Amino acid sequence: MSQHVLILGGTTEARRLAADLAARPGIRVTTSLAGRVARPAPVAGEVRTGGFGGPGGLADWLRAHRVDVLVDATHPFAATITANAVRAAAATGTRALLLRRPGWSPGPGDRWHPVGSLDAAAEALPRLGRRVFLSTGRLGLAAFRHLTDLSFVVRSVDPPEPPLPPYTRVVLARGPFTVADETRLLRGHRIDVLVTKDSGGKATAAKLTAARDLGLPVVVVRRPEPPAGATVVPDVAGVLLRLGLSSPRGSGAADTCP
Ligand code: NAP
Repeated sequence: MSQHVLILGGTTEARRLAADLAARPGIRVTTSLAGRVARPAPVAGEVRTGGFGGPGGLADWLRAHRVDVLVDATHPFAATITANAVRAAAATGTRALLLRRPGWSPGPGDRWHPVGSLDAAAEALPRLGRRVFLSTGRLGLAAFRHLTDLSFVVRSVDPPEPPLPPYTRVVLARGPFTVADETRLLRGHRIDVLVTKDSGGKATAAKLTAARDLGLPVVVVRRPEPPAGATVVPDVAGVLLRLGLSSPRGSGAADTCP
């Protein structure tokens, strides 16, 4: 009998896991996307798009589609869907795993300023510099809109959602980025401070190396804690192990991006 795995996606790990599971006989895999990105990267297996309508709607979906395993592979900052997944899995008795890549840690030479939220990042900025590289994604930028004395470079895959700070230049780009790419961007825009979420993974870490090399301060927004009781695994290989499946070649510590 085939097993149905629902992956809550929107990350590189989710796509990688879907590709692995879709190639295995006896497994049906569906990836759920929020529908925020206009042209999402291709995903193997079945795909559904859009919200479920809260934890109750997700529980209904799990029942209606006879899901055996729910893998929450959403971004570490997607806290609402992660909380919903835990509740829906508990309500339906569905086996659930939370695939969460480890966060970043500062190394020698890093000038990090950890903060608890985008609002706290905005509060810290005026003391740290006037030309800011915001790589926190396209949402939540209203937190910076009152900083009329600072200028911003915002990078995101799709255009950022207004309201934005008045002096904002938008760079539309999809990672991964190399250290040379990031150094060029930081130098080119004469950036003197960065703001990033602690997304973790290798593919978006190059900006941190570039900032360190240039001696720039980085405001790092701490990630939300996983919900109590969630079974957390750090990578695709960890999910496969939990499911009793053999690891694919080249998985495990593979790089990740948003
Ligand atoms: P969120 O705040 O945790 O979720 C808000 C609502 O969006 C959820 O309640 C749910 O709606 C819907 N949703 C989120 N992820 C979904 C999914 N994979 N499938 C179906 N519905 C989903 O999420 P977010 O921070 O806006 O992130 C949205 C998506 O973008 C996630 O899939 C995440 O992996 C990806 N992403 C987020 C970030 C980030 O920084 N937050 C960065 C990169 C990628 P209902 O309640 O109606 O079910």
